Amino acid sequence: MKAEIITIGDELLIGQTIDTNAAWMGAELSRLGFDIHRKISIHDDRNDILETLKETSGRADLVLVTGGLGPTSDDITKQTICEFFKCRLIVSNEVLSMIEEMMKRRGMPMNENNRRQAEVPDKCRVLFNAAGTAPGMWFEKDKTVFIFMPGVPYEMKYIMTEHVVPELKTRFGSQIIIHKNIMTYGTPEARLAELLKGFEADLPSDIKLAYLPSFGIIKLRLTATGSDHLLLNNEIEKQVNKLYEIIPGLIYGEDEKSLEMVIGELLKDRKQTICTAESCTGGKIAELITSIPGSSVYYKGSIIAYDNSVKIDLLDVPERLLKKYGAVSEQVVKCMANGGRKVLNADYSVATSGIAGPDGGTESKPVGTVWIAVASDKGTLAEKYVFGNDRNLNITRFSIAAMNLIRKQIIS
Ligand code: AMP
Ligand code: MG
Repeated sequence: MKAEIITIGDELLIGQTIDTNAAWMGAELSRLGFDIHRKISIHDDRNDILETLKETSGRADLVLVTGGLGPTSDDITKQTICEFFKCRLIVSNEVLSMIEEMMKRRGMPMNENNRRQAEVPDKCRVLFNAAGTAPGMWFEKDKTVFIFMPGVPYEMKYIMTEHVVPELKTRFGSQIIIHKNIMTYGTPEARLAELLKGFEADLPSDIKLAYLPSFGIIKLRLTATGSDHLLLNNEIEKQVNKLYEIIPGLIYGEDEKSLEMVIGELLKDRKQTICTAESCTGGKIAELITSIPGSSVYYKGSIIAYDNSVKIDLLDVPERLLKKYGAVSEQVVKCMANGGRKVLNADYSVATSGIAGPDGGTESKPVGTVWIAVASDKGTLAEKYVFGNDRNLNITRFSIAAMNLIRKQIIS
């Protein structure tokens, strides 16, 4: 079932009003099992409205439209709808008495604009609006259902919830959509897509795969569409199992799990603790770890060793190593992790040393280079990564890379 969303209003195009209606309606339609193929925002302009309605007619099963139904002269949707559906405006006595009653309750007199709100196209089904004065309108043309609603978000939501959603449920029936997210880290999107080429090709037609990347984490979203809940769940589970077979080392969790949540669960299960000794990430790893409620059980604390003197004095990094290899080096970051572990007395200790930028890069250590070490009873492991040029992005990417290294060490 194809759906499209049209939001009408000059204010949406010039950035004065953020188009929250389209986002809200998109989420509702998705829940009802519609595939939303397009969202478009257009001017309060007769030609633009006519053209857009013409385009969607016959192409989509459902078109939701908001905006331009106000009582003022800039709102021209209603007249334009009449042109499009070849009908005329008539006064709806029911809408008129609802508006009169509402105005009376608010102690306001009726004027010509209010009366105009009670005019509706003679070919539509009226969707009464107890949250405001402009009613919604339901049309059908060339196998497409068109629903027009006011732009005011709470009025639109009222009409959607009271009239549209229940009717769409019975009308378009039993379509169910199930999403399942598999969280991965450690491989760029293009490489992951290569690894999953065969998997994608073998996907049944009712399951779709999307790649949603963010700071090196790639969420693989499987979406199953159909009518049988149990069947869809089984199919999704089968595909998830296949993913675990193809990319076992890259998957760190499911659904909306973050690395910090996973680390928290692992440490709690094992009754172990962690501490941080951060240079270039400046406390970002500590922030991620402590964003999880209950992290006090497993998080000891942090030494932010930004300056070399702190690395030497508090983390016991030998000065000669700093001189010989530089702060951004395997040797120093390992010492930082070991030193942090000793001072803060934790099972695991993570350390970072890198060049977030924009300055400070060299040919052998460009901006974006980071060394990350994790120390534990299992030994001290260090890895080097090279990311981009943006300071803030680098700090986040360094920290997420560190979180994944911690996770890998815990489960190793
Ligand atoms: P209208 O039905 O065009 O008179 O819209 C009335 C008011 O609703 C506008 O002034 C906007 O503040 C708001 N509005 C209209 N369209 C949207 C939209 N797509 N998203 C959020 N707010 C909107
Ligand atoms: Mg408007």
